[in-house]
Amino acid sequence: MSTHLAEWLRERRIAFSENAPIAPHLYFRIGGTVSMLVSPASAEQMAGVLAELASAPPGAGHEGPLPFVVIGGGSNIAFGDDPTRAAVVLAPAPSQVGARILGDGVLQVESGMRNQPFLAWCAANGAGGLEFLSGIPGTLGGAAAVNAGAFGRSMSDVLLGADIVDEAGAVRAVDASYFAFRYRDSRFKLGRQTVLALHLRFDPCEGKSIAKKSRENLEYRLKRHPSYRLASAGCFFKNPLLNGVKTSAGKIIEECGLKKTTCGDLAVAEEHANFLLNRGRGSFADLRRLEEKIRECVAARTGIVLEREVIYISPRGEKY
Ligand SMILES: Cc1cc2nc3c(=O)[nH]c(=O)nc-3n(C[C@H](O)[C@H](O)[C@H](O)COP(=O)(O)OP(=O)(O)OC[C@H]3O[C@@H](n4cnc5c(N)ncnc54)[C@H](O)[C@@H]3O)c2cc1C
Repeated sequence: MSTHLAEWLRERRIAFSENAPIAPHLYFRIGGTVSMLVSPASAEQMAGVLAELASAPPGAGHEGPLPFVVIGGGSNIAFGDDPTRAAVVLAPAPSQVGARILGDGVLQVESGMRNQPFLAWCAANGAGGLEFLSGIPGTLGGAAAVNAGAFGRSMSDVLLGADIVDEAGAVRAVDASYFAFRYRDSRFKLGRQTVLALHLRFDPCEGKSIAKKSRENLEYRLKRHPSYRLASAGCFFKNPLLNGVKTSAGKIIEECGLKKTTCGDLAVAEEHANFLLNRGRGSFADLRRLEEKIRECVAARTGIVLEREVIYISPRGEKY
């Protein structure tokens, strides 16, 4: 099925494995195997892999080309228990400094850079206004794709543009409007295009105050969230709009008496009812059952239909 791709990767010495378990690469630790797991060593190599995947010939058995999914930190995503027919491309963390100042309050950062090292770079380079990312796991590319945010700010407030790989495998520059940002959403979240590098706006600021703000934000979160060592994907449901006001999904779930509810090894966290925890052997089936249980109970008691924030991948490699 993926022989052509395997050959292509081998020729270029790009690391990959076939029928690989995906759970170890996800914060939730939920998912079976994927047809191929590809680990490019650089953003350039990732662009090459994506171009190849976009142009790949149909696979055997008329199944069509192998679908692909790009993963950053894997902190907002779960795969099914059965094998997923897809190539998963792991966005590479930059081996050297992954960010640079472009000029007047604008910086460029590689999409595979993790948020916390990025904030250390921001502090060292006087780039303020991005501290809301402190404590959000994952990469800058993933954060842009899902319009991640905290403390009243999100990526849509700071993103000016990006270099992307489009569906045809071509690299091009786009501006912020191309992202079609919405609350915890953009066209990249469920789409098949990839962010290679981001252009972000920053406020020139003293490094010390950036480091202090990042530390305070992180400490605030560590006090209120379940331990980051526990497997989860952060807030599972989006905060719904009630009479025009964004309302905490965690509070709603808690008020419905659902704290500590379990399905198999999946449980609603005691510290924050919008965190679903995988206590070790949780399966995708458990997760779906718990999700439905919460949604049905909340809808029956309050009339509110909660919308999932976390991304699922179908056995055919489609995001939903
Ligand atoms: C403990 C915990 C706390 C969290 N707190 C918050 C929070 O406060 N606020 C918040 O918004 N989220 C939070 N999250 C969720 C998650 O960390 C964020 O959504 C994060 O920004 C996702 O980044 P990632 O790199 O892990 O993305 P992934 O999970 O790897 O991917 C998410 C989506 O982005 C796509 N994607 C990834 N990289 C790229 C790329 N380069 N180009 C295009 N698409 C890409 C993927 O295909 C997928 O559709 C939390 C999660 C955890 C586990």
